[in-house]
Amino acid sequence: MTKKVRTRVAPSPTGDPHVGTAYMALFCLAFARQQGGEFILRIEDTDAARSTKESEDSIFQSLEWLGLEWDEGPDKGGPFGPYRQSERVAEGLYRGYVDQLVSQGDAFLCFCSAERLNEMRNELMAKGLSAQYDGYCLGLSKAEISTKIENGESHVIRMKVPREGSCVFPDKLRGDIEIEWSQIDMQILLKSDGNPTYHLAVVVDDHLMEISHIIRGEEWINSAPKHILLHQYFGWDMPELIHMPLLRNPDKSKLSKRKNPTSINFYKRMGFLPEALVNYLGMLGWSMPNGEEKFSLDEMIASFDINRISLGAPVFDIEKLKWLNGRWLREELSDEQFADRLNEWAYNRENLLKIIPLIKERVDLFTEIAPMATFLVEGMPSISEEDMTLKKVPEDIVKKVLQYAIWETEALNNWNRDNLNALFTRLAEKLDLKIRDVLAPVFIAISGQPVSPPLFDSMAILGSDMCRARLRHALNVTGGISKKQLKKLEKSYRSEMR
Ligand code: GLU
Repeated sequence: MTKKVRTRVAPSPTGDPHVGTAYMALFCLAFARQQGGEFILRIEDTDAARSTKESEDSIFQSLEWLGLEWDEGPDKGGPFGPYRQSERVAEGLYRGYVDQLVSQGDAFLCFCSAERLNEMRNELMAKGLSAQYDGYCLGLSKAEISTKIENGESHVIRMKVPREGSCVFPDKLRGDIEIEWSQIDMQILLKSDGNPTYHLAVVVDDHLMEISHIIRGEEWINSAPKHILLHQYFGWDMPELIHMPLLRNPDKSKLSKRKNPTSINFYKRMGFLPEALVNYLGMLGWSMPNGEEKFSLDEMIASFDINRISLGAPVFDIEKLKWLNGRWLREELSDEQFADRLNEWAYNRENLLKIIPLIKERVDLFTEIAPMATFLVEGMPSISEEDMTLKKVPEDIVKKVLQYAIWETEALNNWNRDNLNALFTRLAEKLDLKIRDVLAPVFIAISGQPVSPPLFDSMAILGSDMCRARLRHALNVTGGISKKQLKKLEKSYRSEMR
């Protein structure tokens, strides 16, 4: 009997949900639906320090907005829950599996200190070898291990990995892939704090949730041997593997927020239709048998065939997405639908209620609202080099502040007014500048005007990627930063902002 198709997407709730998550979710969903199977959403939140509730909610909302509906998940429940890894940890679900591996002799306790591991890695690298664990703790006797445990020595648990031969495994898109075992590290499965690593959790969860096909990004190909070996140790069947090509920046590097807006929220705020974004993500990895570029999710599901996934490097090109969006707007929406969608997008009560507190004190007439609040509903404000030339702040400082602000906000996990306030206050302190001078170029970059409604509240409404896109836009308007200048700036950034 063939197994029921069950696919899953397993995003980590850190920051704004990435278009890459939607891309994976789309392919998981299209395949599962086409096969009459199920699509599962699992939240990978074992990194407690970086995971946030806001981000998790944002994942639900973004995928819902795109119409990528899951059958089982943390919010929906299902027969294989819980669907949040933190809850699975709390239930002690992983511990028994690690203990099983240790008693089978397939995993071992490792007491090596960070210093020893560092030294070992440095030595290996100096010899031009890859910096993998050398198996030191494999040589400990039972008595030595017991004494160390009695003494309360901190330890992790690692999996055993053969040192010879290679792992050959099929990928549904790529055929057989061969990776030598010597390239595979003796992966930590359980951290010293008792939490599982991704590699253990993903294997246990995929098995218990009866996942039949693992569809994920190609950056995980090198981890597949570890997962296959763990399945063997447990005596479980390995799900089929499908490694999707990664989305790329126009310069072919991996799509990253350093260079491009990557959050689903950005595309929503820019006024893209969810149908068009889903269509575009589908188009990036797949083609319709009839060659038509514009297709709906239902059409994609109806004709979905894994063999039509293309392995080329898909470049995420905003201009192409815009072209496709234009087609959707013009060809699919009646005037009534257009009005409804516009209303749903930004001209709705909920959104107005966010904006009104910022402008109420500043207007006497409704007619004054549009000019003041345009920047909250537009894409890139129209600014010129002249606008970016400030009397009190020299050009090099303007550029520096904008670039530092881009880098600093990239690392900001929780995008809200207070955190933004703290971020810019710190930036001014570190650069020994008046906060007024730091904020002057930022005001113009974000709002297009030297004065605007409260900056941090506005930035919170606009969202992280939209703000960064505007900061980048303003930087380009000032003439941008050359590669050489950027290198220098990166260096000073690292020392000044520490
Ligand atoms: N959290 C991982 C990611 O989002 C999941 C990888 C996987 O699907 O196994 O890339």
